[in-house]
Amino acid sequence: MDPATLAAWYSTAARDLPWRRTRDPWAILLSEVLLQQTQVARGLEYWSRLLVRFPTPAAMAEADLEEVMHLWQGAGYYARGRRLHDLARAVCDPEAPWGGLLPSPDTAEDVVSALQSLPGIGPYTAAAVASIAHDLPAAVVDGNVRRVVARQRASASPTDAEVQRAAARWMEAAVEAGVSPSVWNQAVMDLGATVCRPRGVRCSACPVQATCKSTLTEEGPESFPSPKPRRVTTEHLVAVVDIDEHGRPHLVQRPATGRFAGLWGPPMHDANSEEAKVAKASRTTAGHVTHLLSHRRLEVEVLLGKAALGRAPDAHPTSSLDDRVLALAMDHADL
Ligand code: SF4
Repeated sequence: MDPATLAAWYSTAARDLPWRRTRDPWAILLSEVLLQQTQVARGLEYWSRLLVRFPTPAAMAEADLEEVMHLWQGAGYYARGRRLHDLARAVCDPEAPWGGLLPSPDTAEDVVSALQSLPGIGPYTAAAVASIAHDLPAAVVDGNVRRVVARQRASASPTDAEVQRAAARWMEAAVEAGVSPSVWNQAVMDLGATVCRPRGVRCSACPVQATCKSTLTEEGPESFPSPKPRRVTTEHLVAVVDIDEHGRPHLVQRPATGRFAGLWGPPMHDANSEEAKVAKASRTTAGHVTHLLSHRRLEVEVLLGKAALGRAPDAHPTSSLDDRVLALAMDHADL
């Protein structure tokens, strides 16, 4: 793949995103963390909101986790919000060498490793921040890069190590050709996101079609890479929504680790547990909610009962599953 050709394409075709107009590592980190599992349009909204309230790691470190989770509410994958708060506190720790900022070439010999030593930062995010904020030649590998590698080489099932090696080699070639690491990484990711798409691939608009082996195969580019088998397990749960005389539900805070950690919601139990049996004995069923997570399908039976004292849900961060459970219960509550 010719680096100069792809870089030239990127200079005119790059998506105009606000985090591409900054070199602030914190702003870039926020965008990367958000975009890992959130659509760009949605990510934009959350990115602006988080950055206005927390323009620096110190601003987030000083805030309560609950406030961070409130702003994160609706973005999904809540563990990310919690880890970001942990990270902000870690870089602001007076014992740490970071002085309230993310590791940079001024404070770390190996910026990528230093970033990875912080809570919630994996190889992808570390390489993205190091390259985009500091122009360091760290090759990123995400789903887009994996797809472009697989198609350029017509490789049906490249291993993670093979994709990483290919991406690193491309980065070396790009730097040798005088292309900035920041531009290179973003160009490959943009190619995967807008042209070399999983479905509806646009090879006729591709600047690097000349080197693409998948276009010469009988199966065609969209057969590469072959999909990874995905196992989805179903979990049956019971949500206990007890409502007080003012129409406010009884809410509990989820434990600090595990699913929806730190968020609030009605008590929820495994459908086969003793707690579920006891709860069912004295409540009616309002209905059922099906909720899909990445590898899990949650089937939730929503029970309705009476509470002595509830809480205002708006004042507590809740997950989208709990929002749906509460909405269903409210629709059936005899208020
Ligand atoms: S030619 Fe088609 S399949 Fe190959 S990299 Fe370009 S868009 Fe992807």
